[in-house]
Amino acid sequence: MDVGAWCGHCGESFRLAEMVDGGFDGRCPRCGFDLAPGYLPVAAAAVHDVLTAASALESAAGRLHDVAPRLHVDGRKLNADLGAALGES
Ligand SMILES: [Zn+2]
Repeated sequence: MDVGAWCGHCGESFRLAEMVDGGFDGRCPRCGFDLAPGYLPVAAAAVHDVLTAASALESAAGRLHDVAPRLHVDGRKLNADLGAALGES
């Protein structure tokens, strides 16, 4: 799963994975703005966790669909809940 992100400073979009390719420095891959000043280790761990969780979700959903095709996870609600957890809305 390709987790997209955008910078609140320059407004440019990028793949969240771009922030960890070559080592996480907390900076926007487009403009270099420090997105987590003073919280680099916490932000690094959280970004890695988000990427790991997205990958795990994709894998688990695929497995579930394979073995229980009549069980439908409510993607619309999940999406809304994820949006809330991500501070959107
Ligand atoms: Zn930026």
